Amino acid sequence: MTTDTAAQAAYVVAALLFILSLAGLSQHKTSRSGVVWGIAGMVVALAATVGLASRSITTTGLVLIALATALGAGIGLWRARVVEMTGMPELIAIMHSLVGLAAAFVGWNGYLDVDAGLSGSLLAIHHAEVFIGVFIGAVTFTGSVVAYLKLSARINSRPLTLPGKHVLNIGALVAFVGLTAAFVARPGMGLLIAVTVIALALGAHLVASIGGGDMPVVVSMLNSYSGWAAAASGFLLANNLLIVTGALVGSSGAYLSYIMCKAMNRSFISVIAGGFGTPAAAAEEGEQGEHREINAEETAELLGNATSVIITPGYGMAVAQAQYPVAELARKLRERGVEVRFGIHPVAGRLPGHMNVLLAEANVPYDIVLEMDEINDDFAATSVVLVIGANDTVNPAATDNPSSPIAGMPVLHVWESANVIVFKRSMAAGYAGVQNPLFFRENTQMLFGDAKQRVEDILRGLDALDAPVPEMAGSR
Ligand code: NDP
Repeated sequence: MTTDTAAQAAYVVAALLFILSLAGLSQHKTSRSGVVWGIAGMVVALAATVGLASRSITTTGLVLIALATALGAGIGLWRARVVEMTGMPELIAIMHSLVGLAAAFVGWNGYLDVDAGLSGSLLAIHHAEVFIGVFIGAVTFTGSVVAYLKLSARINSRPLTLPGKHVLNIGALVAFVGLTAAFVARPGMGLLIAVTVIALALGAHLVASIGGGDMPVVVSMLNSYSGWAAAASGFLLANNLLIVTGALVGSSGAYLSYIMCKAMNRSFISVIAGGFGTPAAAAEEGEQGEHREINAEETAELLGNATSVIITPGYGMAVAQAQYPVAELARKLRERGVEVRFGIHPVAGRLPGHMNVLLAEANVPYDIVLEMDEINDDFAATSVVLVIGANDTVNPAATDNPSSPIAGMPVLHVWESANVIVFKRSMAAGYAGVQNPLFFRENTQMLFGDAKQRVEDILRGLDALDAPVPEMAGSR
């Protein structure tokens, strides 16, 4: 068997491992094995690629590949070890930017180093691939950098509203189509520089003009773009595995974006066009009324007497790293015969599946973790809802107030239950910058403080409920 045939066979194996990985990642129970399949696929792919390259490059080239691999793997390991769960979205965004940058470089390289054997329509296809690869790569690069800056709060997450922003976006797309035709007819560096600049500006503008509640869709959209950028590089490098892998990432990212849009009740096109999530100024929202407070001991008593409890976690649970005491609380309540379930909003936290990952980490049984659609009708028959660090995802304004910036977004109907306890540190708004009327409802009480500490206080309160009452002095 030649090296080439062996490498192609290895590519097929790697592609199958990636498909198995995606299948594994689609369910909590199998997600760990999904990650292992993905790592195995990547090892096979890297080994085959280096094996292929070793036929035609010098020893210096091989040493450089080894150095680049060691450096990349080292940085990857280091980042993965130190990243906090709350920092995952920005880590993912910055990684997407590297995929985009690599695709743009591969495109430029394809222009500078054209295979001498290409002519006629094959050469035209090559030039189209170069142009499209550079475009998608550059859009992904700057779009991901802006997403990184927004998610890490290095720039304001409010949407940028330039005058005529839709005209600018459509103009950039029309210019791209026109320039592609011109480049295929007469390739020139000027045209390639022009498309690179347009794509860099378009990527930054697209993501800058999306704000607040639409950021989840942006993250998954950039995930999809990075896949298509990799696939474009695969065509240029005639690398089948890169095409297959890019298409897998591109299509799964696109499907995830579709699911997120459905969860947010938004059309994909209107998200890309921007505008949703424009935070309403707090002052414009008018007087909300008085809120009521509760302490941990009273909450423990309420929970001790409850028959059914639903816990709806949000971003604050991730910030506080409260998942372990929350899991312990669920366990204790279930031991006492209380029915406990978790209600997960599809965009809770800062990452698709964020809450599911945290709860799985804390060994919460999967069968009590329900999606929003599965649990939304059950709130009315629930004694107590614990809203742990969630805000936008439980905001009744989304259903009650058509002028709210998050109007139309499906939310968890926590307010329908008998008692709602909201865990947070202050009366501050959530990610979308919108005040939450839930906090001022009759059946809502605020439990202020760090979510982890408060849940730990409640655990102690529950223990105290169970402790035998010391006999009063003098009593018989
Ligand atoms: P929100 O971001 O709306 O609210 C989180 C709440 O947690 C805040 O109100 C904050 O209040 C509270 N909080 C923060 N730290 C702590 C702490 N240590 N202890 C207790 N409370 C704390 O959360 P949701 O999960 O409800 O909504 C997610 C939002 O993020 C949505 O708007 C979504 O669109 C957006 N988003 C989601 C992404 C995804 O893929 N899931 C990606 C990007 C954005 P306080 O400061 O007063 O404590």
